[in-house]
Amino acid sequence: MRTRTDPLTVATRKLTDQHQSPPCRTDPDAWFSEHRATIAEAIEACHRCPVIEQCRQAAADHVATHGPAHTYGVWAGVHHRGHAHTRKAVS
Ligand code: SF4
Repeated sequence: MRTRTDPLTVATRKLTDQHQSPPCRTDPDAWFSEHRATIAEAIEACHRCPVIEQCRQAAADHVATHGPAHTYGVWAGVHHRGHAHTRKAVS
């Protein structure tokens, strides 16, 4: 099972304090899937997430710090491809 990186941990701390869990904590692998249907489901779940605004800021901070090539997976309803040229095509 994959775990989310530190920026997202910061974004979800609020929910942890409220004894809630964002959807990506339930099935983290779906947020890093290479299958189009699974990615679409993750994006849809993000749009119901109560910390999407914090997550969006965390994603922006992550991209600014590490660059888009080092940002992979669904963050705040946006699919980041990272090193897409080294990965399999989305099916
Ligand atoms: S917006 Fe999506 S990626 Fe961000 S914490 Fe919520 S479910 Fe996870």
